[in-house]
Amino acid sequence: MTSPSFSAPLPTSVSVSDGAPPTPEQAEPAGSARTGVASKRDVVVGVLALQGDVREHIATIVSLGGRAMPVRRASELAAIDGLIIPGGESTTMDKLTRAVGLAEPLRAMIRDGMPVFGSCAGMIMLADVVADPSNDRFGNPQRTLGGLDMVVRRNAFGRQRESFETNVSFSELAATGDAGAEDPVRAVFIRAPWVEKVGDDVEILAQVPASATPQAGPSDGTGTGLEPVARIVAVRSRNLLATSFHPEVTGERRVHELFIRMIRGEA
Ligand code: GLN
Repeated sequence: MTSPSFSAPLPTSVSVSDGAPPTPEQAEPAGSARTGVASKRDVVVGVLALQGDVREHIATIVSLGGRAMPVRRASELAAIDGLIIPGGESTTMDKLTRAVGLAEPLRAMIRDGMPVFGSCAGMIMLADVVADPSNDRFGNPQRTLGGLDMVVRRNAFGRQRESFETNVSFSELAATGDAGAEDPVRAVFIRAPWVEKVGDDVEILAQVPASATPQAGPSDGTGTGLEPVARIVAVRSRNLLATSFHPEVTGERRVHELFIRMIRGEA
């Protein structure tokens, strides 16, 4: 398979479905979908655009008829109804979100119920705890935005097969034009985390079965010799959705569709 180019330059102009940045009038006011006045009007899905596979998420939302806009600064947050945190590198995203002043506003919006979907590095950003955080040169561990009561382990599926694909069954999906609700999701894992532990209010939506888990333990070798077990790779808790894998790179649209339904208050 071809890995997405995480370092591809991003468009400098705002790219939404009709090519123009949403005005506050076009954008459904943030919060309305969560207070019971959800309408069928287009929601605006922000994609955190500091680093990672931003284009692929925007393209998937637009292909579903949704509106998407890259988010690079705090002033853009008022125009969005939900946010996607893409795949990429969580340590870089952590540094950049803090550097541009997005980390604190995002934490507050997550707490206040803004729907957020994180894929891969985005899942790590949403985790309350990273089992094996990377340290900066001063020894400070990477931070996350948090919100999902879970422990994730970075690069957990192992470096000898940094990328692999498998089918997973995924609950809560609805049928789209492409696939039925019960059809498995083709999941692509690229230096992917798994979820090691979830709190009581975190629902497990998908797991890689033991038979398809390429190795038992994390890349640091501590798992060597363990029997493979099923690994949690998709979760939801209220307004937050996260996948270890990248639905945005396979043409899979049902996960984004679920996220849009969450924003509208329909799921
Ligand atoms: N290993 C990366 C990290 O720790 C995630 C990789 C990805 O998003 N594909 O952030």
